[in-house]
Amino acid sequence: MLPFKLVYSDDYFLPIGAHVFPAEKYQRIHKRLLETGLAEAVDFVAPKPASDRDILLVHTPRYVQKLKTGTLSAREELEMEIPYSPELVRAFWLAAGGSILAADQALKDGAAFNIGGGFHHAFPDHGEGFCMIHDVAVAIRRMQCDDKIRTAMTVDCDVHQGNGTAAIFAGVRVPSAPLPSAGGSTITTSSPAKIRSAHAGDVFTISLHQENNYPAWKPPSSIDVDLPDEIGDDDYLAWLDNALSSGLRQFEPELLCYIAGADPYREDQLGGLNLTIEGLKKRDELVFRVAKARGIPVMVTYAGGYAQKVEDTVTIHCNTVVAAKQVFGGK
Ligand SMILES: [Zn+2]
Repeated sequence: MLPFKLVYSDDYFLPIGAHVFPAEKYQRIHKRLLETGLAEAVDFVAPKPASDRDILLVHTPRYVQKLKTGTLSAREELEMEIPYSPELVRAFWLAAGGSILAADQALKDGAAFNIGGGFHHAFPDHGEGFCMIHDVAVAIRRMQCDDKIRTAMTVDCDVHQGNGTAAIFAGVRVPSAPLPSAGGSTITTSSPAKIRSAHAGDVFTISLHQENNYPAWKPPSSIDVDLPDEIGDDDYLAWLDNALSSGLRQFEPELLCYIAGADPYREDQLGGLNLTIEGLKKRDELVFRVAKARGIPVMVTYAGGYAQKVEDTVTIHCNTVVAAKQVFGGK
């Protein structure tokens, strides 16, 4: 039995037809976790859909109304890049409910996973980049509304910048001294990453992403690390370490929301970084170790993953559970 819960439903499947987003990945992760003995049936808990009230903590009434009545414009549907259906709306409401439950469980157990979610490109008034509803933001706002937390930090390691997260939790941008370079001697790339910082409100947002990738317009997170193409494991881990240290020097979150995208993988179809499966697991371990050392509960969501072989995406996501078990499992 794991020392943390895995929130999961077969209904996380996104009914989007043939698509670069492998909508069946959630079911495959669930199956793999059970088959390998990494998790048992008792480790899983089933989510309920978020209520409309929960969704409205983040999204505008007009947008929610359009989703519920099927009245998005053709342009809005195109921007979302997944085909609208009432079933798809239900899947996103359920994913948001899953993140609410995972956040709640993380506050009780120190860690929890939503085996789904991480839809970080959804904005209050529109969806984009395969994301309709920002489940992580909904979960944070719901925890705050219930007086369970005051502050949270998002750590987004998907290859694409968390533009929805940045927009939703936009703080006041203030001039700040440049952050120290990430460990100097450990950075080996010839074109270094750029780090930008802005002040946060009650939610501090960190995003590490490939600079030359979607989204073209990257609204400022509290800390953005704009990584050059083809960056490998060691440099990536050094920048992540740096961003976490910088963020946690500036801000004390009561919940850390880790968006564990599988798409920084070297064989990802939509990513241009060069991380290995082992490097991605070290990334997960680093986030968990830092959170555990500071006693910050962690809620994990999965976000993107478009490896040429879906099996690799499944492995990377399952390894995040392995990493958590290594960090949180032992006494
Ligand atoms: Zn992505």
